[in-house]
Amino acid sequence: MVTDQPKILVVDDEPSNRGLLAEVLKDDYKVILAKSGEMALSLASRHRPDIVLLDVVMPDMDGYQVLRTLKSQDETRHIPVIFISALDSVADEEKGLLLGAVDYITKPFHAPIVRARVRNHVEAVSHRRLLERLALVDALTEIPNRRRLEQALQLRWPPGQYLSVILLDVDHFKLYNDHYGHSGGDRVLRQVAGAVQKTLKRETDLVARYGGEEFVLFLPHTNAEGGRVCAELARSAVENLLIPHEKSLVGPFLSVSLGGTSVLLPPGGIVPTLVMEQSDQQLYLAKQLGRNRVCWAA
Ligand code: GH3
Ligand code: MG
Ligand code: MG
Repeated sequence: MVTDQPKILVVDDEPSNRGLLAEVLKDDYKVILAKSGEMALSLASRHRPDIVLLDVVMPDMDGYQVLRTLKSQDETRHIPVIFISALDSVADEEKGLLLGAVDYITKPFHAPIVRARVRNHVEAVSHRRLLERLALVDALTEIPNRRRLEQALQLRWPPGQYLSVILLDVDHFKLYNDHYGHSGGDRVLRQVAGAVQKTLKRETDLVARYGGEEFVLFLPHTNAEGGRVCAELARSAVENLLIPHEKSLVGPFLSVSLGGTSVLLPPGGIVPTLVMEQSDQQLYLAKQLGRNRVCWAA
């Protein structure tokens, strides 16, 4: 099956060059063709290719201009660009590389060289993606980590909509570790993470491991009413795991306490820093009131 082939955007104003390059790459990649700089930019935004093979000399918008524009847009900034050009002086090549192209191929090109260089850059792209993904995942529980949460907190969310943030902390987890051992504790953290994650429904909902035995549920488009429901679902999901906790002072099974807040996102859509603080205060209150419960900021 040839699904998931890397996508290569080939940009050249000369039809025969486009045809030749497509022929060279079509067996290993999904090839997208653009015949002008303008078309390249719109196809790059729409298809998010893995690599762009970019001609330099083109009427209207040249390759340099295309590269600069790609580099100026968040959604296309990271796409590696390989120049492929008849401009073959050292100065031309230096200029292309200094502008941020990852490679420079001169025309007339040799098919095996194009294939080999594209393959190397595609491999680098997939390594980078893997590292980016790993950097955002918690190694123990395999759910999003704190860095991933910080990213979500820094994004701009639709102003005028509610956002709920919930802190969740395992009850008497130190006593659990002391009694069942650290690896037993680790296993429980994985179970809790999995159970809580399963309660989330929307694509934008996020649960992250925030620290040791503390998790955060980040729920865009969710007001206090909805947030409380989600918190209660998470609480009961953990309770229903029926994990024996002999030393718990709350009950026979492992439980969690949760504190939540919802905010109306201000113009600009920046998440106010106080949501985490307020949720933390509510979590503290839930602990004070006897644990295994949800408290919500008024
Ligand atoms: P409370 O109900 O008030 O939250 O009590 P607690 O015992 O859960 O709270 P405390 O913060 O005193 O203890 C948290 C414990 O979590 C202590 C620490 O050893 C344990 N912990 C933190 N990270 C990990 C981890 O990755 N694995 C395991 N097994 N334990 C961890
Ligand atoms: Mg705890
Ligand atoms: Mg804690």
